[in-house]
Amino acid sequence: MSRIEIMQGDITKIAVDAIVNAANETLLGGAGVDGAIQRAAGPQLLNECRGLGGCPTGDAKITQGYHLPARHVIHTVGPVWRDGKHQEHNLLQSCYRRSLEVAQANHLKTIAFPCISTGAYRFPKDQAARIAVATVSKCLKQIPEIEKVIFVCFDIKDFKLYEELLLLSEKSTVE
Ligand code: ADP
Repeated sequence: MSRIEIMQGDITKIAVDAIVNAANETLLGGAGVDGAIQRAAGPQLLNECRGLGGCPTGDAKITQGYHLPARHVIHTVGPVWRDGKHQEHNLLQSCYRRSLEVAQANHLKTIAFPCISTGAYRFPKDQAARIAVATVSKCLKQIPEIEKVIFVCFDIKDFKLYEELLLLSEKSTVE
């Protein structure tokens, strides 16, 4: 059975070991999915984030989930899209890889990701989805302890992109 699932909806509602936040380098809250996670988790989350001293782009740091149904939040900082020539691809890969490494280090088994960098940070959605699926698939082979990764797509367009990519990758595994 595949360890990768896709869902359409709100990541703040998902009861997993950790949801991933598409944060900014300050880790002090923002708009989009970050704002939604901060609101749903309550003020204790921001308080814990204040003690983390920020996070470089491409890296990830973990906190508790507080009032979220998820036990933890892994905060990762996606690249801002400029023109594709400023390490955007590598940095986005790094977000997915580092988030899973942090999950592994904390013995977490179920992780949900939003579509990192595809909102305010303007990463082209199709390229971002390819990077997400390819990087997570590769990392899961190296981290057998992680049982499930859910890509949570806020809008239906993203959901369709992931659906297509996962169907393609299933076919290529079978053939
Ligand atoms: P970034 O700054 O990394 O681009 P954004 O939060 O602006 O982060 O957008 C990242 C993605 O998160 C977008 O695809 C957006 O549709 C999605 N998103 C926004 N709110 C939620 C939510 N509550 N649950 C899941 N995904 C969300």
